[in-house]
Amino acid sequence: MTAAGLLLLAHITVVALLGTKAPWGPVLSDFIQFSLGTVLIWSVVEASRRSEGLARSFWRLTAAAYAVWLVAQGLAVYNDAAGSAPVAWIGNLLFCFWFVPLAMAMFLDPEHEAGRLDALIALDFVQAVLVCVAAYLYFFYLPKAGLASELPHSVWTPYFAGYAFVAGSFIVRAAVTQSRDARALFGRMGIFLTLSGCVDTLYFYGPGRGLKTGAWFDILWSILLVVPMMIAITWKQAESPTLSLDPPKREKRIYTEIFFLLYPLLVLFMSLRIARERLGLAATVVFLSFVCSSTRLLVTQNRLVQLKDALRREASRDGLTSLWNRKAIFEILDRELLRAERDQEPVGLIMIDVDHFKAINDSRGHAAGDAVLRIIASGIASVVRPYDSVGRYGGEEFLIVAPGCSLVETAELAERVRSHIAGCSIVVGGSSVKVSLSLGVATGQTAADSEKLLHDADTALYQAKNAGRNRVEPSVTRAAGASQSSSPTSGRGFWL
Ligand code: GH3
Ligand code: MG
Ligand code: MG
Repeated sequence: MTAAGLLLLAHITVVALLGTKAPWGPVLSDFIQFSLGTVLIWSVVEASRRSEGLARSFWRLTAAAYAVWLVAQGLAVYNDAAGSAPVAWIGNLLFCFWFVPLAMAMFLDPEHEAGRLDALIALDFVQAVLVCVAAYLYFFYLPKAGLASELPHSVWTPYFAGYAFVAGSFIVRAAVTQSRDARALFGRMGIFLTLSGCVDTLYFYGPGRGLKTGAWFDILWSILLVVPMMIAITWKQAESPTLSLDPPKREKRIYTEIFFLLYPLLVLFMSLRIARERLGLAATVVFLSFVCSSTRLLVTQNRLVQLKDALRREASRDGLTSLWNRKAIFEILDRELLRAERDQEPVGLIMIDVDHFKAINDSRGHAAGDAVLRIIASGIASVVRPYDSVGRYGGEEFLIVAPGCSLVETAELAERVRSHIAGCSIVVGGSSVKVSLSLGVATGQTAADSEKLLHDADTALYQAKNAGRNRVEPSVTRAAGASQSSSPTSGRGFWL
């Protein structure tokens, strides 16, 4: 604020003493505004460092907007000193579009903003700038058909229309948003943009018309640089970003995407006329717009694929243990039984229940119980073969589907699991917990066996519990596919 105050004082002095006298009057006047712009960007970057979520993205976009402005202002200083028409032309181009990055803040979502600028927003921003560049060439460059250091009045009509649209949208957004931070940011910047638009109007259509660089009107523009600086310096985030895991309450409406389809169309339309005068320029704009659209398509497609994978994973995995969930493990069992029927091979099924698990919950709490369940799950998964499948059947119950295993082999696998977990020392909350498992083992060989197989394994598990827990019990009711032989007749009534 002190630096801004001193620069303002210096500007008033320069205007009073040198005014529009070339070269020092305009050079110093523009240079002081350049310095004010640097302080402004610094304060905006500081505001973004103090912020999170939507506010951080908002300030970053503001910094990008003023960076565009600063480059234009730097070119203006150079032009005051060296008087180069191409530099003035590029400077004017940038002055026309400096606020476009700020306008992109309209696309920030306070509910799901991670504090990082989304790749799609960045691409849309580039596309929007290309539309503006094409419009600039179309409306200003072609009619003049030459390089000019001053913009004709006709070019300011679309500029003011765009500016008023952004200022109005900010104010409307501030009025309708639920978020207090978004209200403060969009409201303050919306009022500032309106004020700044009014000053620009006074320059182009009012008392400032025709004034040269270094005249009194420049001080008003310097004050306009101090206003956003004050907003940034006094900015204090009121709420921490609420990044909920719930899906958005309202999905983005499809018509909001139409703008991004319109952009390349507008660029193409305007480039047709530009191409008649400057083929290379038109080709560059169209090419860049094409690259933007294609990249946007690729990014969207990639996100959809990732989302599909995540949804598929979520639909088949257990949330606590990351094992297969109940539905998925049943599907695996059915699939393996079908395969077994064709290959004449048995499928082993192990049903596991943690012994006295309620006691762990009661003595150490539910969270510790959850941690123990996760450790048991990964312990089970670590001892089975790569082609076995482990799922969570219920609360503290698990299923293992072991393709190609006879009853004896399945019982051996179950014993391996039992002894591994019984030998593990599980540490939760700083103390160790001893855990044991009871396991029921059964085998089947046909698709129709599915329910019977589950019932057999459940009965065997019940027997393991009754027999004193921490043990493996094979099914005794039927050992159809249980036989080690693949013959359907041999092995009936076989049990361990
Ligand atoms: P038993 O040896 O007879 O199996 O005794 P148990 O205590 O293990 O069996 P019981 O069926 O009485 O209790 C199972 C307990 O498992 C009760 C329930 O609170 C707990 N449980 C089930 N699902 C979860 C879970 O996801 N997390 C936690 N922490 N506990 C669970
Ligand atoms: Mg149980
Ligand atoms: Mg239990």
